[in-house]
Amino acid sequence: MTDISVSEWPTHVRVAVIGTGFGGLCAGVRLAAAGISDFVLLERADSVGGTWRDNTYPGCACDVPSHLYSFSFARNPDWSHSFSRQPEIRAYLEGVTDQYRLREHIRFGAEVTEARWDGEANCWQLDTPRGPLRADVVISACGPLADPALPDIPGLGQFAGPVFHSARWDHGYAMAGKRIAVIGTGASAIQIVPEVQRQAERLVLFQRTPPWVMPRLDRKFTRAEKWLHHHVPASQRLARFGTYAVRETYVPAFTKKPEILQGAQRVALRHMARAISDPNLRAKLTPNYVLGCKRVLLSNDYYPALAQPNVHVVASGLARVEGNTLIAQDGSAHEVDAIVLATGFHTVDMPIAERVFGADGLSLAETWGGDMQALRGTTVAGFPNLCLVVGPNTGLGHTSMIHIIESQVAYIVDYLRTLDQAAAGALDARPEAQQRWCADIERRMEPTVWATGGCKSWYLNDAGRNPTLWPGTTIRFRRNTRRVDAREYRRIQAGPGKRGAPIELRPATPINTMRIPTTDGVVLHGEIHGRLDGPTVVLVHGWTNSTAVWGPVIRALGDEVRIVAYDQRGHGGSVDARWDRYSITSLVDDLEAVLAATVPEGEKAILVGHSMGGMTIMAAGQRPGVVERTAGALLVSTGYGDLVATARIIPGRSRRLATVLQRQILRSAAPMGPATRVSRAALRYGTMGPDASHDVAVATAQLVHACGRRTRGTWGRVLDKLEVGDALAGLDVPVHVLVGTNDRLTPPAHAERMAQRLPQCTGVTELPGVGHMTPLEAPETVADLTLKVVAESRTVTPGAVTSGAVTSGAVTSGAVTSGAVTSGAVTSGAVTSEAVTSEAVTSEAVL
Ligand code: NAP
Repeated sequence: MTDISVSEWPTHVRVAVIGTGFGGLCAGVRLAAAGISDFVLLERADSVGGTWRDNTYPGCACDVPSHLYSFSFARNPDWSHSFSRQPEIRAYLEGVTDQYRLREHIRFGAEVTEARWDGEANCWQLDTPRGPLRADVVISACGPLADPALPDIPGLGQFAGPVFHSARWDHGYAMAGKRIAVIGTGASAIQIVPEVQRQAERLVLFQRTPPWVMPRLDRKFTRAEKWLHHHVPASQRLARFGTYAVRETYVPAFTKKPEILQGAQRVALRHMARAISDPNLRAKLTPNYVLGCKRVLLSNDYYPALAQPNVHVVASGLARVEGNTLIAQDGSAHEVDAIVLATGFHTVDMPIAERVFGADGLSLAETWGGDMQALRGTTVAGFPNLCLVVGPNTGLGHTSMIHIIESQVAYIVDYLRTLDQAAAGALDARPEAQQRWCADIERRMEPTVWATGGCKSWYLNDAGRNPTLWPGTTIRFRRNTRRVDAREYRRIQAGPGKRGAPIELRPATPINTMRIPTTDGVVLHGEIHGRLDGPTVVLVHGWTNSTAVWGPVIRALGDEVRIVAYDQRGHGGSVDARWDRYSITSLVDDLEAVLAATVPEGEKAILVGHSMGGMTIMAAGQRPGVVERTAGALLVSTGYGDLVATARIIPGRSRRLATVLQRQILRSAAPMGPATRVSRAALRYGTMGPDASHDVAVATAQLVHACGRRTRGTWGRVLDKLEVGDALAGLDVPVHVLVGTNDRLTPPAHAERMAQRLPQCTGVTELPGVGHMTPLEAPETVADLTLKVVAESRTVTPGAVTSGAVTSGAVTSGAVTSGAVTSGAVTSGAVTSEAVTSEAVTSEAVL
């Protein structure tokens, strides 16, 4: 496998992602979270951001509300306005790149000039200015707004002054005192026009088709709102969900009953009338097609700008240019000093399609013949192992494209998983599956406003077909892309050197098992794995699990370290607990006994705790017998529960009530009763991320059900007794915190708060899409971070940690700053499993 942890040019990678806009970055984050570290992001420019890097024109902003226009896994409580400006969005994307450690995967100046499928080797051969590269899978995330569409207007090339596209703004050109022509009245133009009107002596606007313009309900977020979003993240989630839900209700009007849009048209006309008193100008600006047929625009300053005396609207296209004079199609002539082309992008022809050559040697553009088609907007028959982000029929007019991007990327991650599970070299979309998908879209497209609204928009291709938009809700799209249906793909046999073998989920076999007596007579079950002379890592499992939960992590750690895993009292092989002594103190007693029995004299161990195991470690920070044998810790999916945190901000009696309620909920939810559909769904919702595989779900259910009922029921009591603040303050060794963004039991906000209270926090790693069952869902990341903590803990006896022990594998370079939120981009391999049988888990884990 190629090591791409340093910035050299790799020769062969598992996945090559083209582009670093929203789509490419999302792919990078999700690949890393899925345990795939062997990938590169190829970027033609010298910084990330895609269209939000390229579009720097004055007034550039987003017309989708800020809370919705961000990744679900990286919400931003600091947005300044309800509609974000371009610099802020660009900075956000730079921040996501850093936060999720994507820079080490990015190769700038690497424009893909050709991608050709090599059927012999079952991989893609890519050409770039930085050199060739082979990739098993290519994810094209070039985006539809990447390549400006320049109009073919006679004489334009001979125009004496500056001519620039809205996406290539010439910031060196001063508009003051100049006559400027703006061509186009789309989403870009209506933001540019008010700015140019303010600066230029005269503005001539060439309008071929008037847009429908609605008021933009923009405002600054108050400090109180930002504070709330910071400290009660659920408030921002709620705001996001509210905006999302409201926008989803627009869909039927666009897709089924355009007549509903008449009300919106009246609002738009009133909006125009308020700003423009001249009836002739109003007539020019009034659209003659149904609102929604073209993209609905939002602006409060477009119409007021057009009403200014230095603006002239030419209600006609631009026919030709003669010297400095622009001749409109209506014959009028207008002399100007500069031309701004706000004429849009190559949206229906996807320029990268001319550079991608599939199994039969034809380019994607030739295969499509001007009519883009794909299976689930993502894969194309005849182009094995090629995935498109924002592919055909994925565009939206009513809400955030980031929702679609996240759906597609989840589908692509499942595609990679399917590839591994099928032990295939490649998957190729079946033409009949693609046709079925496209025929359904075609059928649903018929009654939409885009087809019936009476306009010619950039949504349509020359054949009059709409290959760009998704005719439905984003909920439907997400449902349709939740999982790869293997029946829709043809499997191509793996060639030699195939990578990405699945990770097995069965418990690891110890090289030694032991019985460890504790102070109150309980005998604990312990296991030793790994390299006997390596530094010691002690794994402390969570409240519902036994040693078995660590199986994938133990395998991922391999022979790097000496691994001690033990069943906490009441679990697995340590079931003979005394219930009256089941408390946080007794769990710390047990950890102390384990360290005394397993850590060699004069050495110190790294403690890795999951969930309640992490809380055991926290509490042990004040126990001398543990502290003197501890060099560092990794707290995985640890915290004190959403409801407890909620209880803490509730005053007095209500707070007590909330705590009691929380304990009751935990008690009743924990035993799960028989494995009914409801209990399984509840378990899944509470503990697993959306991408957790079937095997992770099965293993989790078995671990939960195998755990004693009383053990589960007492967890709330244990939780109550732990003074979290004190415990964290006492844990005075280097500690790294790891959490999944979909962890509902111990969500990221708690991890961050914990990190702030730890005396020596080396960083917080957030794993997008991962739930509470981190050791099962992302074992490679847990293993990598464990090795990182081993490397950072300088107090381990010299000789115990050798450089070889920590550099092979995937320890990332550079120390993580305290309190910084970093990412799980350090993983490798994929979390998949072929076989988790109930016997495998129950016999070894529980008995
Ligand atoms: P656009 O919507 O495609 O608009 C292009 C404009 O140029 C149209 O008014 C078009 O006229 C006109 N035009 C094109 N060729 C012409 C010609 N030869 N002569 C005269 N006029 C010509 O492009 P855009 O404004 O750059 O926006 C593109 C997309 O970018 C938007 O739909 C949106 O998805 C995105 N965008 C989003 C935001 C945001 O806030 N999120 C902001 C800017 C852009 P016709 O209407 O007659 O074709």
